[in-house]
Amino acid sequence: MTVALITGVTGQDGSYLAERLVSEGVTVHGLVRSGDRTPPVPGVRSHLGDLADLDGLRRLVLEVAPTELYHLAGISSVAQSWQEPEQTALLSGVAVARLLESALEVQRAHGAPVRFVHASSAEIFGDPATSPQDESTPIAPVNPYGAAKAYAQHMVRIARDRGLHAAAGILFNHESPRRPSSFVTRKITQGAARIATEGAGMLTLGNLDARRDWGWAPDYVDALVRLARHHEPIDAVVATGELHSVRDFAVAALRRAGVPDPGSRLVSDPAFTRPADAARMVGDATLARTVLGWAPTRDFDAVVAAMVDHDLELLR
Ligand code: GDP
Repeated sequence: MTVALITGVTGQDGSYLAERLVSEGVTVHGLVRSGDRTPPVPGVRSHLGDLADLDGLRRLVLEVAPTELYHLAGISSVAQSWQEPEQTALLSGVAVARLLESALEVQRAHGAPVRFVHASSAEIFGDPATSPQDESTPIAPVNPYGAAKAYAQHMVRIARDRGLHAAAGILFNHESPRRPSSFVTRKITQGAARIATEGAGMLTLGNLDARRDWGWAPDYVDALVRLARHHEPIDAVVATGELHSVRDFAVAALRRAGVPDPGSRLVSDPAFTRPADAARMVGDATLARTVLGWAPTRDFDAVVAAMVDHDLELLR
């Protein structure tokens, strides 16, 4: 019987993952932070707790004794990590060390493997000199979020060397209508829907020339499940391989919402630019495609359309 434990079960990825596993008949436990505004999806057994409470984390893992442990929780945005670098190190770095240690403990106690999947991030590559990035790209983060994720990524490999089925999905940006508006894609789609509905207004963004590889979040969750169930633990880049600028995303979203002359609606305000920002992040997911049989199901235009349509619907 599969018993899954998901940290970050109320987030974008956690909610898609929980829905998927519940529909497969998996017993799903989720770590929920007090104060989380969204409840976990139906069928999830929630456990109130906090990543900063390392002893509590260990107790939870020992109690649930999962066969699959998906670690998705942590500081979720680069922007937030600049405000809170030490919290970022604790929640997105140190907590992973404790979870891995606890998973090894469960494995030893029960004599059955615990498949540990860590949601890593393209931010571990920093501002890479080569493009696209793959599993051999040097780990060289440029922000506190990337630095914490880099530490976690190393710890996953170290736990693997100690006999844990520990895998990391190196996830490039992945979006959906469940993205909070602190991320540029959702900020744009909410803004586009508002402008279309009101017939007026501007989209005020930061660096319009920043380029990202934006995929569809449920596809990335599918990659995490494939990592858990693959016969050997590996680290794999998960990305579409397509690069688009913030400007491209904004123009596509405004157009989808039916706003005429989209380019005239964009303003770049230095208040929204970052102290350091990777200019081009694009992943090469050849390993995931060939070894895990993974492939994205939605391209850039389909992601934009799904998010804009959702936000238009909310305003109606
Ligand atoms: P990230 O790649 O995980 O940091 O995801 P974000 O969605 O927060 O940012 C993606 C890119 O959009 C980064 O290069 C940001 O600098 C850029 N960007 C441009 N304008 C904005 C904005 O108004 N808000 C945010 N969050 N990002 C912006």
